Amino acid sequence: MSLQIYINGQFYDKENAKISVYDHGLLYGDGVFEGMRSYSSKVFRMQEHMDRLYESALAICLKIPISKEQMAADVNKTLQINGLVNAYIRLIVTRGAGSLGLDPNRTSDPQVIIIADSISLYPEEYYQNGLKIITASTIRNHPAALSPRIKSLNYLNNIMAKIEGLQAGCIEALMLNHKGEVAECTGDNIFIVKGGVLMTPPKDAGILEGITRNAILDLAREHGIPAQEITLTRHDLFVADECFLTGSAAEVIPVVHIDGRPIGSGSVGSTTSKLMKAFKTLVHG
Ligand code: PMP
Repeated sequence: MSLQIYINGQFYDKENAKISVYDHGLLYGDGVFEGMRSYSSKVFRMQEHMDRLYESALAICLKIPISKEQMAADVNKTLQINGLVNAYIRLIVTRGAGSLGLDPNRTSDPQVIIIADSISLYPEEYYQNGLKIITASTIRNHPAALSPRIKSLNYLNNIMAKIEGLQAGCIEALMLNHKGEVAECTGDNIFIVKGGVLMTPPKDAGILEGITRNAILDLAREHGIPAQEITLTRHDLFVADECFLTGSAAEVIPVVHIDGRPIGSGSVGSTTSKLMKAFKTLVHG
């Protein structure tokens, strides 16, 4: 049986799951989304994902036509119908089909789409040996232009940074904010370890407040690893002992080189390994 895709409460074969070419999600990137994972049939931090989705929608004046509870139930139903246990879930809400103009008042009903599938973002080898990344010259969204805390369908600046990374032979790239401080990578949050202290940029550094990021901060506390949400510069990265990235799709992945420079020993550090293991236990537990 073909993969079943949810659109507005109905299920369609993947080949027949279609929305209008007049949808403002396509025409203007006008919409919001979430990326989540299920482990052993249970969505990891479902409530946090629902809260972030509805906050993103509220921030762009988009009224999601169903309640959070209904949405969570529909996510679970999509997993069940497809017989998926360990899956990646993409939840999208677009402004809906409208006229050829920006006016959101001239759109019809928002479209709710749920795709449950598998994802393999980075090859296994990078989880063992670590990633090499570069700093992109494309900065993260200026908060006064579009808050990076909104998970919107506008990912073009992150895609441009990703292209810079790929052109330099790296599959992920670091993005700075408009002040030149470390923000995050194109689809992941960033952490460093220095002198046994875990550090990550604060929420107001122009980042998406990652749900995996928050889980790692919780785990650090539980494991007695001192953790700080603190402004970081490239200098802090270059002199760090360890570095790693977090995201729902990526999970926890080590970084061993930035801009051609080895971080710490240039191999995966002990705190990173400890937190990767703790994260695995948390999600499968
Ligand atoms: N930053 C950006 C820009 C992202 O797109 C994502 C999600 N892929 C993250 C951080 C990580 O967030 P989460 O842990 O909630 O998936």
